[in-house]
Amino acid sequence: MTDVLVVGAGPTGLTLACVLARQGVSVRIVDRSPSAQPGSRGFTVKPRTLEVFDDLGIADRFMAAGWVAARTRVHLGGSLLADFSIGQDKPSATRPYPNSLALPQFKTEEILRDRLADFGVRVEFGTGVRDFQANAGGVVVELDTGESAQVSYLVGCDGGRSTVRKRLGLRFSGRTEEDVQVLLADAYVEGLAHSNATQIWLGADTFVARPSGEGGRWQLVASVPPDHPEPSARLLEKKTGPRTYWPGPASGRPELAVGLALPPPDGRHLPRRPGVPGRRRRPRAQPVRRLRDEHRGPGC
Ligand SMILES: Cc1cc2nc3c(=O)[nH]c(=O)nc-3n(C[C@H](O)[C@H](O)[C@H](O)COP(=O)(O)OP(=O)(O)OC[C@H]3O[C@@H](n4cnc5c(N)ncnc54)[C@H](O)[C@@H]3O)c2cc1C
Repeated sequence: MTDVLVVGAGPTGLTLACVLARQGVSVRIVDRSPSAQPGSRGFTVKPRTLEVFDDLGIADRFMAAGWVAARTRVHLGGSLLADFSIGQDKPSATRPYPNSLALPQFKTEEILRDRLADFGVRVEFGTGVRDFQANAGGVVVELDTGESAQVSYLVGCDGGRSTVRKRLGLRFSGRTEEDVQVLLADAYVEGLAHSNATQIWLGADTFVARPSGEGGRWQLVASVPPDHPEPSARLLEKKTGPRTYWPGPASGRPELAVGLALPPPDGRHLPRRPGVPGRRRRPRAQPVRRLRDEHRGPGC
């Protein structure tokens, strides 16, 4: 019999499954998504988290994959307010990983899944938990594959809309700002200068662009008016376009092409799509649909 069923294969569930499997506990980890989530989402791995990963024997994989996002450029309207770089701290005995690492969340999850596989455990995708009931043996869990699994313990790591939490009648601490909408996109943007810098445009129309570590790929975060009907690729283009035209050093090219992009589930890099200077390319339809599903709204 399985000792522990971990529900949800995000960073929380994967880390827990690694810790348990390393201790020799028999563990299953299920996720209702058909495959690994491809979005960049959480982008910063903090020093203390790196210490946890060190304990799991994977800090070196994170150090090799991530980078320290040092440079930031801040704009207001058409003006550049600041362009600064934060120095990197040196490791010490008490702070072995002194700097936060930039790394898209899909990569964090990939490294954790690989570590879990080292312990002989694989994520069971396409396997959601529907319901569960405590019994003498622990918990009997109904999976949406039709399986009924008897386990000693069930752990809910199933995110903000957790089925496990709701089923247990537990409250979600915190609050949701219903009128705050954010559009988050992983996109190939050509013509955006200063490709090593996080770019922040302040004001009512806040916009952030962070380089994603692969040539031309950026994480774009835009505020969306509450009354806007649907976050869409068109809206993303409208917000990105003017911001490639800021008056800046000569390296800024006034050309732009935006193509929404999601990495394939196995984490291989997408080939960079060729750009046409001076023309915008319409984003593909499929990623836009996923964008709506996965990255819209507060609390996402
Ligand atoms: C725009 C944005 C930026 C962010 N930036 C950062 C950042 O810089 N640093 C940071 O640390 N965090 C950041 N976060 C937050 C980060 O993405 C989350 O904290 C993180 O994903 C939470 O991990 P988790 O494993 O707890 O849950 P999730 O990643 O939500 O994983 C839960 C998993 O459970 C699965 N699941 C749900 N219900 C069921 C069910 N019934 N049965 C089986 N499986 C189920 C889901 O498919 C999902 O894979 C950001 C988030 C967003 C949206």
